[in-house]
Amino acid sequence: MSPQYDAVIVGAGFGGMGAAIALKQLGLGNILILEREDDLGGTWHVNRYPGLAVDIASVTYSYSFEPNPHWSRLFASGPELKQYADHVADKYELRQYMRFGAVVGGGVWDSEARQWTVSIAGQESVTARYLLTATGFLSQPHTPDIPGIDTFKGKIIHTTAWDDSYDLSGRKAAIIGTGATAVQLIPKLAQQVDELTVYQRTPIWVTPKVDAPIPRPVQGLFARLPFTQRAARAVNTAILEAMMVSAVLHFRQARLLNTAAAAVAKLHLRAQVRDPELRRKLTPDYDFGCKRPTFSNDYFPTFNKPNVHLQTSTIERIESDGIVTADGRKANVDTLVLATGFNLWDFNFPAIEIIGREGRNLGKWWRENRFQAFEGISVPQFPNYLTLASPYSYSGLSYFTTIEVQMKHLKRLLNEVKRRGATTFEVTEEANAEYLDRMTEKLGDSVFYQGNCQTSRSYYFNQHGEAAILRATSTITAHREAERFPLESYNYA
Ligand code: NAP
Repeated sequence: MSPQYDAVIVGAGFGGMGAAIALKQLGLGNILILEREDDLGGTWHVNRYPGLAVDIASVTYSYSFEPNPHWSRLFASGPELKQYADHVADKYELRQYMRFGAVVGGGVWDSEARQWTVSIAGQESVTARYLLTATGFLSQPHTPDIPGIDTFKGKIIHTTAWDDSYDLSGRKAAIIGTGATAVQLIPKLAQQVDELTVYQRTPIWVTPKVDAPIPRPVQGLFARLPFTQRAARAVNTAILEAMMVSAVLHFRQARLLNTAAAAVAKLHLRAQVRDPELRRKLTPDYDFGCKRPTFSNDYFPTFNKPNVHLQTSTIERIESDGIVTADGRKANVDTLVLATGFNLWDFNFPAIEIIGREGRNLGKWWRENRFQAFEGISVPQFPNYLTLASPYSYSGLSYFTTIEVQMKHLKRLLNEVKRRGATTFEVTEEANAEYLDRMTEKLGDSVFYQGNCQTSRSYYFNQHGEAAILRATSTITAHREAERFPLESYNYA
């Protein structure tokens, strides 16, 4: 029996849409995109907290083949990103493939029929020749298991489930977490609530954000002469590559670059916070890049406000009306914001159950062996399966680099499948092992292993202490490898 679809893609965010565009370009138009939410856009549909914006300038944080000359600012807001996602879906006619509210249970490879069967909660299963999971890196929210959290009588809001109808004015609020999300949210919260207590377990490196509105004449120039926007993208990307990729991956060789990035962040803090004790608390004691740094101009000054309190003592318990810390203090609060991030290693890799050839369970196999994926996209014993949110796939630069590299890889691979008149592909054990060895060796030079990361509590590290997310190559190399990986890395049948 032939499968119902050429391909099923799980996730209608930028990753899933990029994959669909690539498949269409190959002439595979019988696609189903399954999305658990009620609309497209992934992160940019789900996240709606105040202050939401990109923290990678928009010229870089967008598809290179679909530039948007009309970004209103250097760092676009969340709603603008959602509009851009809608525009891409319309322009590339992707909505016709999307089914919303479809919570995928898992995918099972059927060796006889040579197809995937994908189960969907409360709906009929579907079959497909190819299965692609584009479930994002940050799609499984983490809610901390703090004693007493269930007894809290006030309002609890996780940043991924923002309640727009909840009035913050006059509130005594607490926020747990000081990651990139909190850095955007805290200044906005502080403006609205009466009192804000920020519970920081680990400080974050924050560098200045060079942000401004993009004047209309410049937008017009980008529209009329697209090479000007491409040039702006190239300059911004080069700066980010030095700071977010080279300084992190080549820590052994380029420690100075890393020290310089940290020095910029320290100067930024010094310029914005006078109180030395407050500065000490806000200064990370781990190296720059161990966990993802961020950019902000209004985060540090927020702590100078009289209604904002930084609490660094460990949270002991939550009571019905407040939070008690190890120093014996209790903050009475009626609103608790959880900016506590995501659970990558327990629930994201993979986000759904994937059963490959001979019953190999991807999640179990990754946990019992090591997290691994050839070129960050395919795994042995998982024929016709591409995993887009994978170990060793993430370009430290921008998620769009990851997406476009994967689009190139999948096009080259599926073209070869077609050229050979085959119906299945499967990465070889050897190619996969070689890639894992290479990434492991290269990461040996990175800040993760050469630097001081012990106290960073970074989600880049998995439960075995391996920093197994970043693809340890430059952006240019990642693109080149996607265009030139040996086709013999796969078996075709
Ligand atoms: P995150 O970086 O994982 O931060 C979670 C925060 O919650 C950390 O400060 C963590 O402290 C704290 N936390 C978690 N459990 C806790 C507990 N039980 N007790 C006390 N504190 C606890 O998550 P995020 O801020 O949502 O950011 C995730 C990623 O999203 C970022 O790294 C970035 O890649 C992305 N992001 C991007 C943008 C953008 O504009 N592009 C914006 C926002 C976020 P510890 O550090 O001590 O664990």
